[in-house]
Amino acid sequence: MIQITDKHLCCGCASCVQKCPKRCISLYEDEEGFLYPKVIVEDCIDCGLCEKVCPLLNNSKTILPKDVWAVKNQNESDRIHSSSGGVFIALAREILASGGVVFGAVFDKDYEVKLAYSETLEGVCPMMGSKYLQARVETAYIDAERFLKQGRHVLFTGTPCQIAGLHKYLRKEYPNLLSVDFLCHGVPSPGVWRRYLKETINNLSSARRAAAGKNTVLPSLNVMLAIASIEFRDKTLRGWKKFSFVVRGRSAFKADKNSVLLSDMHRENPFMRGFLSDIYLRPSCYECKCKNGVSHSDLTIADFWGIDRLMPDFDDDKGVGLVLVNTEKGQRMFDRLSMEIRLSSYSDVVPLNGGFKEHTKLHPRRFDFFQRFATGEGVADIVEDLLHVPLWRRVVRRIEKYILR
Ligand SMILES: Cc1cc2nc3c(=O)[nH]c(=O)nc-3n(C[C@H](O)[C@H](O)[C@H](O)COP(=O)(O)OP(=O)(O)OC[C@H]3O[C@@H](n4cnc5c(N)ncnc54)[C@H](O)[C@@H]3O)c2cc1C
Ligand code: SF4
Ligand code: SF4
Ligand code: SF4
Repeated sequence: MIQITDKHLCCGCASCVQKCPKRCISLYEDEEGFLYPKVIVEDCIDCGLCEKVCPLLNNSKTILPKDVWAVKNQNESDRIHSSSGGVFIALAREILASGGVVFGAVFDKDYEVKLAYSETLEGVCPMMGSKYLQARVETAYIDAERFLKQGRHVLFTGTPCQIAGLHKYLRKEYPNLLSVDFLCHGVPSPGVWRRYLKETINNLSSARRAAAGKNTVLPSLNVMLAIASIEFRDKTLRGWKKFSFVVRGRSAFKADKNSVLLSDMHRENPFMRGFLSDIYLRPSCYECKCKNGVSHSDLTIADFWGIDRLMPDFDDDKGVGLVLVNTEKGQRMFDRLSMEIRLSSYSDVVPLNGGFKEHTKLHPRRFDFFQRFATGEGVADIVEDLLHVPLWRRVVRRIEKYILR
């Protein structure tokens, strides 16, 4: 039976939880805010299935991509509302048109992230856009297997480890499954996100109160400040390369409907800074065993960072996607898409995207971060303190970057 003795060896895919015939594995959240499986030993019949379907205990062979493409969705609105080139929504539209089902990551009512499925465009739209925290898999593999057995087309998207977990869970090839992962440098802690979001709402709420004047009686927080959307990768305000973290809100004041409540350039936002500095990723991300062809996804999608240097005429700062075609099935689907495409090469793109790195480097202050997090300290304060870069060092870095270019 599954026993987590080393947290680096569990990516939280919940394949074991969903496969257990006795339903005696549940997930618990650890002090860092990540989910891990735990077996109720008295109910276990020692069948060993949980170990057989674990992608980290049973690594697959690496497959190298057949082709590498730069891609832009021709539907401008679809591209603008996607993180990169809008490849996911193009694939989803194709699957929906064939009567299929799409699996992807959505926010739940508390703005935490889970994998869900939908058979309609309306249900698929909330899956668009990167949500930079670990998604709960819940029963997504069980649901996907049900649809696959019914002969429905299934598009399943997720992190490489979620796709590796899906393949292990299914334990056989389904011709009607299209699995798509993305280049992944790691997932931040949902627990850290939860605290950061609370801090953000409190700050926004205090700012509102101050703006309205001390003596004004305002409705309670929930009524006054309901969040309409959170985007980790908004392109509409500063473009694709300088993407922004944006919170939009509905409020009791009609004039403010869907107004921008918070808009930070990515490196200026404390949560994004912590994520991009890799200070609160899941332990398994620092020793990832599922990336770079191990997940056996049909396609891998990503940002085509560096397109401005490789193919400047293809870059309009509205987002260019990178597509790695890994299998014949992936090739057939890619050929069906109507997209603007340019052929690239593996050797050209690897040095330009941190997602290809075999392992994300452990941040030297990760331990300090979680020690302070455990005391209840605010995320923004810890990040500001631990990741503060003095002005002189920022200037030196800029000069170095400029010279390198
Ligand atoms: C945690 C994370 C790390 C990433 N790291 C890199 C990287 O290092 N380099 C790089 O080039 N690209 C990375 N990406 C991928 C990139 O951000 C885009 O998602 C990708 O380029 C697809 O963009 P798109 O425009 O085609 O579609 P989009 O509309 O942006 O598609 C979003 C897709 O991502 C899925 N998704 C979103 N959030 C999550 C989540 N939390 N868990 C699982 N699935 C999710 C959705 O279900 C959907 O399939 C990362 C994404 C995430 C979520
Ligand atoms: S060994 Fe079988 S019964 Fe026991 S936890 Fe694993 S899957 Fe469940
Ligand atoms: S990696 Fe997935 S299958 Fe393996 S122990 Fe962790 S949650 Fe279970
Ligand atoms: S870095 Fe690896 S372990 Fe971490 S979320 Fe991505 S695929 Fe999973």
